[in-house]
Amino acid sequence: MPLSTRKREVLHQIGIPVWVPRQSALAQQPPIEDAMDVPAALRQEPAAGVAVAQSPVANLDWAGLGARVASCTACAELAQRRTQTVFGVGDPKASWLFIGEAPGSEEDRRGEPFVGRAGRLLDNMLAALGLRRGEDVYIANVLKCRPPGNRDPLPAEAAACRAFLDRQIDLIEPRVIVALGRVAAQSLLRSDAPLGRLRGREHGFRGVPLVVTYHPAYLLRSPADKARAWSDLLFARARALSG
Ligand code: URA
Repeated sequence: MPLSTRKREVLHQIGIPVWVPRQSALAQQPPIEDAMDVPAALRQEPAAGVAVAQSPVANLDWAGLGARVASCTACAELAQRRTQTVFGVGDPKASWLFIGEAPGSEEDRRGEPFVGRAGRLLDNMLAALGLRRGEDVYIANVLKCRPPGNRDPLPAEAAACRAFLDRQIDLIEPRVIVALGRVAAQSLLRSDAPLGRLRGREHGFRGVPLVVTYHPAYLLRSPADKARAWSDLLFARARALSG
């Protein structure tokens, strides 16, 4: 039966040691924060609006990356005007990774890349290769938010979004990347060379062969270049099979 505090004091005053069970001795100790005199500000949860260290994007898994993209406000104008972010879609271990420039209005509304007219042409291009969206194919964009009026991504926007795409590529480990159009190709390759100079040869991106072809929206306007796009895709397929 535990001794009352008064009895313990009396025994202590007359010099009789008091045995205290280990658990209750611990229970009598002040909370560790009081004992260490931790300043109150450090004991509290961070106040709303106070930045908390986040893990680097390069360490995130798919779920963490998706959440980080969805809550990104790095580009204030894009974040304010978007309906939603457009993360990317497909097989998380795809051999083929297609990268466009940025979501358009339909993609912004539906939250998936290449779902408008250009997207339907991309699906036809995949079918010609014996591929299907989501099966050994992943589709993403340089930007995860729609630029207002479908303007080209600004270099600062592409730079702010780059870590997300880099992490997607590292998680997927594709065998080949196909850059769709001048804007995506120049942004990925950090080049200002015209599309004609970037097509027809193998580039590298994060250790993965990268092939440049026309953007499907351009091919809708210039169908005569579809034959060239087809030869780019065959070139990409040879890279995918040779790796
Ligand atoms: N154009 C792009 O570059 N990406 C899309 O997702 C749609 C159109």
